[in-house]
Amino acid sequence: MDWGFVKADADDGQTYKCACFAIICHHCGERFIEFFPNAKQENLFIGMTHALFYMGIPEYVLTDNMKSVVTGRDPEGHPLWQHDYESFMKLIGFQTKLCKPRHPFTKGKVERLVRFVKENFLAGRTYSNVTELNIQALSWCRDQNSRCHKAVDCIPDETHRSECWNVTGILQNSKELSLYLCPQRRISFDGMVNYEGRRFGVACWYGRKTCRISRKEFTTTIYDDDLTKALSTYDVTWNRKDRFCKDQYVAEQSEEQPTAPVKAILRQSDTPTHASGFAKFNFPEGLKDG
Ligand SMILES: [Zn+2]
Repeated sequence: MDWGFVKADADDGQTYKCACFAIICHHCGERFIEFFPNAKQENLFIGMTHALFYMGIPEYVLTDNMKSVVTGRDPEGHPLWQHDYESFMKLIGFQTKLCKPRHPFTKGKVERLVRFVKENFLAGRTYSNVTELNIQALSWCRDQNSRCHKAVDCIPDETHRSECWNVTGILQNSKELSLYLCPQRRISFDGMVNYEGRRFGVACWYGRKTCRISRKEFTTTIYDDDLTKALSTYDVTWNRKDRFCKDQYVAEQSEEQPTAPVKAILRQSDTPTHASGFAKFNFPEGLKDG
C-alpha cells in the first residue's frame, strides 16, 4: 500500500492537494484506491478498512517507512511500530512488512499502480466533491479488476476470488472498527470541529469537549463521543467555508424595540459639566489632620 498525491483545480481558482490511498494484491493484482483531502494516519486507517472490506484481510501488508506506520528500528533492526498503527494491526489481524531500504523493486507494484492511476484514471477527469471522485475511482477499480492484466497474466477478480480469498480473512464490522472510521475531535471554544481542512459546528447543548466525525458518501456527520447518536450532519462539498448547525449558539436574549419613531434627544458631552457626586464626601481642608 502507498499514498500518491495529485493536485485538484477548483472552480474558485484555488488548487488543492489531494491524497490517493492505493493498495494492490501482490498475488493477482486486485486493486483498490480511495481519495482523501490529506494523507493523515486517520485516513490511512479509513482507506485500509475500506480496502480490506473490498479485498479481504491479507496475512501481511507491504509498505515503506511511513511515519503513520513505523517510528524507527530497534538495535537488531526490527521495526518499532507506531503505537496506534500497532493497535490497528492487532484489531484487524494482519502483519506488516516494510520494504527493504535501498530496494526499490519490493514496492514496485503499488508504485506502478499510483502512476497508472495518475495517467489513466485522473487524466481529464472532473468531479464536484471527494465522494463523487471516489465513486468514479471504485468503478474504475472494478473495471480494471475485471480485465486481464499482462503483468499478472490473469483477470484479478477471478484469481482473487478463486485463490486469494482462500487465504484472506473477512473483515467484520465492530464497535472498535467504527471508532477508526469516525475519528475523534476536540471541540473549539466557538463550538467548531476541524476535519479535512474544514470546520463544522456542533450544537451547544451537547456540552462535551470531544466528539467524533465521519464523512460517508454525501454526508459528513458529527457524532457524540460514544457513537450513540448523531449531533449534526452536513453535505459533503469542496467548499472550505465554516459550516454552522442549528443549535450551535445559545439564543440571544429577548430585547424590546421602540414601537414608534424615537424623537427624544439626549446630548452627550465629553467632560462632566457638574461637580462629581462624590465631592460631598470630601472632608473640609482643616479637619484632615485633626
Ligand atoms: Zn489477489
